[in-house]
Amino acid sequence: MNCILLGPPGAGKGTQAKNIVKNFNIVHFSTGDMLRKARKSDGVISELLSSGQLVPDEIVVDIVKKSLERNGVERGFLLDGFPRNLRQAEQLDLMLKSKNVKIDKVFLIDIEFEEAVNRIAGRRVCECEASYHVTMLPPEKVGKCDYCGADLVQRNDDEESVVRDRFTIYKKQTEPLIEYYKKTGLFVVIDGLKDEKGVFRQISSYIL
Ligand SMILES: [Zn+2]
Repeated sequence: MNCILLGPPGAGKGTQAKNIVKNFNIVHFSTGDMLRKARKSDGVISELLSSGQLVPDEIVVDIVKKSLERNGVERGFLLDGFPRNLRQAEQLDLMLKSKNVKIDKVFLIDIEFEEAVNRIAGRRVCECEASYHVTMLPPEKVGKCDYCGADLVQRNDDEESVVRDRFTIYKKQTEPLIEYYKKTGLFVVIDGLKDEKGVFRQISSYIL
């Protein structure tokens, strides 16, 4: 089983990616993780990430390519965070074609814009790495960590205006990608409003 997982910020993509690779024993290719690893040894990537810029397609494609070669894809794999736009999808097709490997399913975990904003803007974190949500997972005492008692903060990335920008960028990049995969017949929309188990159940029903 080779699949691609798409979804806007706040859709719970990371959580579901972990559930999928664990349950179906396939390899997890997360471009986020790959870039964080590459950052340590690559000055250019480090610079781009530190300044908050987007990493150019060529660099991301190259990292994915090397990773696919290194990790033997026979077991099946899940691509998470890639492709992000139409150009990357076309590059991926070329890569896989040369290896005679096919994608079986493309999942989109779908949630509405306002829901994404609510989910992300409500996140609070503690320096001890505990995380909360003001309504969905509140701490016992407002604004204080249950474990260490420290003040909870909102990450800059999670501020409402930043979330709105991220969602707009996501839409712009992903819409052509969705059209592209719809034509392949592999595309499946998953209702991201369900809880974690409900979302996973929907995805599992498509994995043989
Ligand atoms: Zn804490």
